[in-house]
Amino acid sequence: MGSSTRCSVIIVGAGVSGISAAKVLAENGVNDLVILEASDRIGGRIRKEDFGGLSVELGAGWIVGVGGKESNPVWELANKSSLRTCFSDYSNARYNIYDQSGKIIPSGLAAASYSKAVDSAIQRLRNQEAKLRGLSTITEPPSIPKTPIELAIDFILHDFEMPEAEPISTYTDFGEREFLVADERGYELLLYKLAEDFLLTSDGKIVDSRLKLNKVVRELHHSRNGVILTTEDGSIFEANYVILSVSVGVLQSDLISFRPPLPKWKTEAITKCDVIVYTKIFLKFPYKFWPCGPGTEFFIYAHERRGYYTFWQHMENAYPGSNILVVTLTNGESKRVEAQTDEETLKEAMGVLRDMFGPDVPDAIEILVPRWWNNRFQRGSYSNYSLLANQPDFADMKAPVGPIFFTGEHTSEKYSGYVHGAYLSGIDTANALLEEMKNEKEGDKESSLESQPFLLEPLLALTGSLTLTQNEAVNGLDKWDFARQQLFSGGKLVSHEAIK
Ligand SMILES: Cc1cc2nc3c(=O)[nH]c(=O)nc-3n(C[C@H](O)[C@H](O)[C@H](O)COP(=O)(O)OP(=O)(O)OC[C@H]3O[C@@H](n4cnc5c(N)ncnc54)[C@H](O)[C@@H]3O)c2cc1C
Repeated sequence: MGSSTRCSVIIVGAGVSGISAAKVLAENGVNDLVILEASDRIGGRIRKEDFGGLSVELGAGWIVGVGGKESNPVWELANKSSLRTCFSDYSNARYNIYDQSGKIIPSGLAAASYSKAVDSAIQRLRNQEAKLRGLSTITEPPSIPKTPIELAIDFILHDFEMPEAEPISTYTDFGEREFLVADERGYELLLYKLAEDFLLTSDGKIVDSRLKLNKVVRELHHSRNGVILTTEDGSIFEANYVILSVSVGVLQSDLISFRPPLPKWKTEAITKCDVIVYTKIFLKFPYKFWPCGPGTEFFIYAHERRGYYTFWQHMENAYPGSNILVVTLTNGESKRVEAQTDEETLKEAMGVLRDMFGPDVPDAIEILVPRWWNNRFQRGSYSNYSLLANQPDFADMKAPVGPIFFTGEHTSEKYSGYVHGAYLSGIDTANALLEEMKNEKEGDKESSLESQPFLLEPLLALTGSLTLTQNEAVNGLDKWDFARQQLFSGGKLVSHEAIK
């Protein structure tokens, strides 16, 4: 058993939400904090890696939501740090659809298939809504995508783009433009910039002893008195509160055991949430054999197997002369590819490229296959709430359980799945905790007056019942928990189940 460290707040996870939460706490005078991070780096799902002579983003790659009425806070951070970005114009992708014989599908057919897929998606949503509301008059069934081109477009609409209900808050609030991060310092530069405002750094490295890397939290004991966390290497950390910023995939796994177990309303919210696996496979070639120039950055492969190496991007706009292609897989295909060797994946990808561009294309000289699903500190790429997820699901997901506060992209009602969702959720959770700490302090002052024995004892003698007073105290705490939950649901009533 290792030594024990006591502090005011422990933050588990040094991804964007954990770092933004810690920064808000530090700015408000809570410097007595510790950040426990399982891996050997900060950033979490923001992660760059050297590949083919460049630095590529294995996780988040785009700043999504730019050019709207409000300014995306992550875009602001990027501008402040002069992060190099590159506008992504997806509008031509649907006109660069290749069939298995390498022919580009005529634009009229592509446009018709696109609008059919959009109509079908809307119909599916209406039917789900009618079912949810118990309406018997289900409207016409949506058409099922069958042909390779329909399957490819259906994949782009539902799997490549975020499957969100309209209107999409990110777009309505921040705008519809997307910028690819194309900077050797990586998307993670933003995390370092946030961290250096409150953590000690030297030569661009974080040297603050409050950031503890390679600390995998395995056990979390909680009670009204605080939390005790045990890490895989046997270290023990104690605090009044913990902010848990691990992904919903990790919460669904058995990596962290809670003692006592989390209540039913919380575990239900966690299990209900879907996790998307999204995999960008990078391929480096000796030379380019794909079309370059305006309107060619994104292209699509139509195959009878849905999601089979469908969505491609060349990196020439971001890094001219890099000779790198990226293909995106999701969910079942991601998991299948994660389970096989990179050589097998390379063979499949080369087969697809030779279908599109002919038998003479050269073999890739390097391949990089991220494994987000099998990474035990992630267990997937991002959360995906059902298109019709209701408010209580979010409220329960982020509501605290005693001294355990939750944060991360999955707790963001409006922007779940995105970097800006994670960033803003960290700020929200830290503010909620500061409020709780303030209330606790005020409550302490009051109760320290009340608990003065010479005042309390005559009062108890008058009421005649110590037991009654204890019950009242317990009821009082339940009401407090209820009030706290209301705070997290934005004042709207959450499900009855949740208020236990
Ligand atoms: C492939 C991919 C592509 C994406 N593309 C985009 C995009 O283009 N644009 C966009 O906006 N968003 C994108 N996202 C989503 C975005 O990356 C996330 O929403 C965001 O980074 C999540 O931040 P977070 O702080 O909530 O979680 P995380 O970054 O996952 O941080 C949680 C941290 O907790 C640590 N941890 C886990 N378990 C433990 C434990 N037991 N003990 C201690 N530490 C632990 C993890 O190591 C991690 O560092 C993408 C994600 C992926 C994976």
